[in-house]
Amino acid sequence: MNSKIFLKRHEERRIKLGHLWIFSNEIDKIQGNADNGDMVDVNDARGDFMGTGFYNKNSLISVRMLSADSIPDFYSFARDKIIRADELRKTVYKGREAYRLLFSESDFMPGLIIDKYNDTYVLQVYSFGMEKNAGVIADVLKNEFKAKNIFTKNELHFRRLEGLPETDEIYLGERVTETISDGSIRYKIEFDKAQKTGFYFDQGDNRYRIEDFVKDKHVVDAFCNSGGFGLHACKAGAASVKFVDSSAVEIENAKLNYQLNSFTTESEFISMEVMAFIINSLNENKKYDVLMLDPPPFAKSKKSLPAARKGYEKLNKLALKILADDGFLVTSSCSHHLGREDFLQGVYRGASKAEKKLQLLYFTGAAMDHPQLPAMPETSYLKFAIFKVNNL
Ligand code: SAH
Repeated sequence: MNSKIFLKRHEERRIKLGHLWIFSNEIDKIQGNADNGDMVDVNDARGDFMGTGFYNKNSLISVRMLSADSIPDFYSFARDKIIRADELRKTVYKGREAYRLLFSESDFMPGLIIDKYNDTYVLQVYSFGMEKNAGVIADVLKNEFKAKNIFTKNELHFRRLEGLPETDEIYLGERVTETISDGSIRYKIEFDKAQKTGFYFDQGDNRYRIEDFVKDKHVVDAFCNSGGFGLHACKAGAASVKFVDSSAVEIENAKLNYQLNSFTTESEFISMEVMAFIINSLNENKKYDVLMLDPPPFAKSKKSLPAARKGYEKLNKLALKILADDGFLVTSSCSHHLGREDFLQGVYRGASKAEKKLQLLYFTGAAMDHPQLPAMPETSYLKFAIFKVNNL
């Protein structure tokens, strides 16, 4: 029998709207001796049953809601959630074999990410409950998806917050190398070398968007990682593409992907800090028509927000200075804590300091395999904007 959690008065409201986290200070009492990672029955202050969640007394997020019902069998519960999530991806990405199959809270499975690379399934496990049930998840992927390889590629920061050991597991097969397609571009994924689970799926749809205005243009893909934006620019007929990333490993990978797709676009693969690249370009008076910026998160916590705002302002200001008249600035932020307006204000301040007039053409978030829950702003993090640039 599950232990019972009783919320304080009114603390049920946010949950009823669809938020999935219960914080430790919202709990009145607990009946039973739930261990970390156990399922608990959640009740409001009057004792009315609200659903089932995973418990973790070590985390500020004491309960992560799984369902408004009871869960008699976790295997069938997980199977249902994973199959539903996969059907959504198959609907929006017809014929693709690689995508973010399941995105944690966004797919009602708090603390679990599953990225699908053909028959290889890479997990990130960030809640005690999912950690306890990871074997069950692996069984679902073996039985229902015919997975050949299943392993984790966890980011330790998030596991520390939950009090989970800093380990990775192989549940099936091995860490093979996969070649995936995003619908038109192919990428080689070497899991041992790659960042995140192996690929940044979140910019998947946005990479297609830039194809609209890069033909015959001189393009820079700054913070290129595996080269997605630049490769789409090659496909769409760019005159030249410079790929820039501070990681030599990623630059090698971008080059490999360029070759894999048999592109002949004039290209350069530059392993360098983006700021240094921009300053060099400024010194050499080089200008580009389209510049893509996709930096790592500047705000890792709320405390670092002011510094992050300044960071986006400075980066975008300098980037604008190496853009030709009538250029396009394609700029992103993946800082969870930085809101849309804050991000845009940073870019606008940078533009005014660089004496450029911007026209916002397009603003969106992550790709459709990264759904957002209306009641849970925490499920939305990526900001992606396209600007037309004019001299003042
Ligand atoms: N645009 C990529 C994802 C970018 S992730 C895509 O579409 O797949 C951020 C990248 O920035 C990482 O590859 C990381 O190696 C790189 N990076 C981090 N700090 C950097 C810096 N100061 N200068 C250049 N690259 C940096």
